[in-house]
Amino acid sequence: MSNQPEHIKTLIIGSGPAGYTAAIYAARADLKPVVYTGLEPGGQLTTTTEVDNFPGYPEGIDGPTMMVQLQQQAERFGTDVRIGMATAVDFATEKGGLHRVTIDSEKEVLAETIIISTGATAKYLGLPSEQRLRGGGVSACAVCDGFFYKGQDVAIVGGGDTAAEEATYLANICSKVTMLVRKDQMRASKAMQHRVTSTPNIDLRYNTQIDEVLGDQVVEGLRMVNNQTGVKEEIKITGLFIAIGHKPNTDIFKGQLEMDDAGYLITEGKSTKTNVPGVFASGDVQDKEYRQAVTAAGTGCMAALDAERYLATIEA
Ligand code: NDP
Repeated sequence: MSNQPEHIKTLIIGSGPAGYTAAIYAARADLKPVVYTGLEPGGQLTTTTEVDNFPGYPEGIDGPTMMVQLQQQAERFGTDVRIGMATAVDFATEKGGLHRVTIDSEKEVLAETIIISTGATAKYLGLPSEQRLRGGGVSACAVCDGFFYKGQDVAIVGGGDTAAEEATYLANICSKVTMLVRKDQMRASKAMQHRVTSTPNIDLRYNTQIDEVLGDQVVEGLRMVNNQTGVKEEIKITGLFIAIGHKPNTDIFKGQLEMDDAGYLITEGKSTKTNVPGVFASGDVQDKEYRQAVTAAGTGCMAALDAERYLATIEA
């Protein structure tokens, strides 16, 4: 390890829409941001094809291109974007203290303020056929990709609020939505369950799991199995949505930052402040409800403004 840790004014961890938007604002405010991209530079959007719901792109834009453009916009104002992963943190607890962060288990940096935008990772079932067809009809975001299946038959897996919400969203666009819930009940709130059961084109199947996703290059169908009777059934679909939860990328912050039971960082009121002075959180790492690129970008902006105000108070 280097003996002389680099001193950074504003460290941004993560390079999705939240991280890059924070960088744009921080750079323009002369906060000298350094972005460490993490293992998936550009974040979850780099695994999406078309992004049609980000304002300002009337023809839509593909996810990887959008993230390159966000990076270029951040760099235009002087952001230093580096490939690297924060692997450990040691946050100062008193206001004005320097926060120590280890990059790639070898380099140490000291930051005056930190914006955490490490995002969340969608969970998948792990079936080989599901993994093979990711991007070929298997998606973990109905709001992002549902439109491509307009007028078609699709299926969704999961019984939580996300699955219930996405099933009803899809039912508005698609002709039929088969919903697979592995237990004999849903975990979703009663109100959300009611929305599902009162939507006529949702075919709700309890005690049902996926045996195999069918299709070579793209999804063509699904073989389901009733886990009580063992009876298998094949249906034709063109899209499969996995809605079994997300895992926020917060493992390295355990014991240092307050988080909820699922590991999402807790922020104070309407701000992006964590429980540690000078450490802010934006994007999906602190948001399990909305999880959109545009909401992540919005909280990235807020985090940069919060960081700017924080630095102004310690420099005063
Ligand atoms: P949840 O963890 O609440 O639900 C996950 C669902 O996926 C459960 O039904 C679970 O089944 C199922 N599941 C998990 N693993 C598998 C698997 N391998 N195969 C099949 N099914 C599986 O995640 P959500 O994303 O739905 O919600 C996360 C949080 O966000 C919750 O607190 C929720 O209330 C909140 N939320 C709130 C919203 C709102 O208020 N509008 C909207 C969206 C989310 P099982 O029950 O059997 O474990």
